Amino acid sequence: MKVYNFSAGPSMLPEEVKLEAQKDFVDYKGSGMSVTEMSHRSKWYDEIHTEALSLIRELMNVPADYDVLFVQGGASQQFAAVPLNLLVNGKADYIVTGNFAGKAAKEAVKYGDCVVAASSKDKNFTYIPEGVKFRDGIDYVHITQNNTIFGTRYTDRTYPVANCPIVSDMSSMILSEEVDVSKYGLIYAGAQKNIAPAGLTIVIVRKDLVGNEKPYCPTMLSYKTQADADSLYNTPPCFTIYMAGLVFKYLKKLGGVKEMQKINEYKAKLLYDFIDSSSFYTNSVNPADRSLMNVPFVAPSDELNAKFVKEAEKAGLVSIKGHKLVGGMRASIYNAMPVEGVKSLIEFMKKFETENK
Ligand SMILES: *Cc1c(COP(=O)(O)O)cnc(C)c1O
Repeated sequence: MKVYNFSAGPSMLPEEVKLEAQKDFVDYKGSGMSVTEMSHRSKWYDEIHTEALSLIRELMNVPADYDVLFVQGGASQQFAAVPLNLLVNGKADYIVTGNFAGKAAKEAVKYGDCVVAASSKDKNFTYIPEGVKFRDGIDYVHITQNNTIFGTRYTDRTYPVANCPIVSDMSSMILSEEVDVSKYGLIYAGAQKNIAPAGLTIVIVRKDLVGNEKPYCPTMLSYKTQADADSLYNTPPCFTIYMAGLVFKYLKKLGGVKEMQKINEYKAKLLYDFIDSSSFYTNSVNPADRSLMNVPFVAPSDELNAKFVKEAEKAGLVSIKGHKLVGGMRASIYNAMPVEGVKSLIEFMKKFETENK
């Protein structure tokens, strides 16, 4: 059965990419082996690895003074790796705009004088704080670029002004819109939302921030370990990196991040415009801070929310239940969600409204 998968992560992959992976799965390009079976030191894998690294550099226009690292452990592992590597003076400020941002801040407290400089908890994380003031002498400011559960995102208007590197968790928006990498000290993202199956985390770090890790930083969490070894210090998640490479090629063929952004803006506008025009559905995020990727919304009652989720599933619109912290529904419309998927959702929403008003 064909479905549109609105899961927040792991999430949809482009059909074309899945078919290509299927074609190559048993015998990768005449090697007689699957990528899942190859040595990570083989010439076959080496090409896959090097090409994936260079494609993400190209797609994100990563300047030469940045390292791109492929690591494991998910974005959550970076909540510890960032302070372990970057806390040279021992101080950092965090902006807490949601659940993952809060987890990152909580983890950092273990390694130094890390505080919450601002939070949007007062309004249940429905906005991004503006004009935040930071302490002097901090090593970095940490932000969460797109808040997956609450459906907010950073834009130029809210981008923090600070005299130190900005560290950003881009897990749920990487490659969905253009980003000026040179404005950041470090960017990290788990792959399973916009890039590939789970298992890969991407770290893009300015080279001068590499090599200052704490003496007790685990070898595997040191950015220097990974940078010195071209992300082949130990066995990488080879198959996930192969899939990431296919997605990067797909994106490049589509016209790159610039084109992807146009499509994402179009999809998000369709959905938000419909929600705003309806007296039945509500999205309570400050309009200027709305995410392009995750759209939480509610129907007028808990019963109707539950009914919506159940009937949507039957109609092939799956995994649309909201996170328990927000309730209701959440449509995650990442890069791989086609425009038709969003249109089908809107048609279903109209029908459900008429039947239940
Ligand atoms: C999903 C997500 C995480 C957690 O990612 P894992 O790879 O599961 O650790 C962290 N931050 C953000 C913004 C996310 O969307």
